Amino acid sequence: MTSDYPHHLPRLYVAQPLAESSEAILTDAQAHYLKNVMRLEDGAGVRVFNAESGEWLAGLMFPSKKAASVSIGKLLRAAEETSVRRHLVFSPIKKDRMDWMIEKAVEMGATDFHPVLMRRSVVRDIKSERMEAQIIEAAEQCERMDIPVLHSPVSLEKFMQQYDGTIPLFAAIERDENAALLSSLAVDGDFAFLVGPEGGFDREEIELLTAQKFTRPVSLGPRILRAETAALYGLAKLV
Ligand code: SAH
Repeated sequence: MTSDYPHHLPRLYVAQPLAESSEAILTDAQAHYLKNVMRLEDGAGVRVFNAESGEWLAGLMFPSKKAASVSIGKLLRAAEETSVRRHLVFSPIKKDRMDWMIEKAVEMGATDFHPVLMRRSVVRDIKSERMEAQIIEAAEQCERMDIPVLHSPVSLEKFMQQYDGTIPLFAAIERDENAALLSSLAVDGDFAFLVGPEGGFDREEIELLTAQKFTRPVSLGPRILRAETAALYGLAKLV
């Protein structure tokens, strides 16, 4: 990235392929935000991106009251291969804490979000559309090129059944004396990191997790962290 990179311009994820001199249509939510919140006008500069096309400088157009589109100019950053997959496997938790966890996990480079229902999950319903929007917003803000994938919610049993055992599954298990200290592990390449709900795992769940060879029980240290702190700490140590 050069020093004249326009980091101050709004940065928007656009799903369609982007190329110089082409046009792209923005969503109603983006149009509303740019026009009514940012109060931008025709011709204002923005950045648009997606993982396949890279990031482009573009000029805003408001063809009607509610619609917005962009006219694409020069390439700012080329598309890049996302190599390492970092899966966060988590129980749904209360709204504000989950919002925080999702945003920070996107910033920390999680590529895949797996909501998993556990016995003690107090929140059992996942608002996928809302979570998807949060993921996109965090990716726009932190200058990521790729948009992390939000997987469909499943039970822990189902998740374990479907798990592709080639990637190590680091399971944060509280109060397990045999668990390896996460901070002492050297991790290279793809991984999944699993954290439990506010109330922790129950005994059967721990048995289910540890019965698999691909599971690596890990301790996050002597203190019991809240689920969202555990998620962030784990990602920060593993990336
Ligand atoms: N209320 C529970 C703790 C739940 S903490 C209890 O008192 O037992 C929420 C989740 O964060 C746990 O399920 C675990 O996945 C993770 N976690 C928190 N602190 C941890 C630690 N020190 N080691 C490993 N995992 C931890």
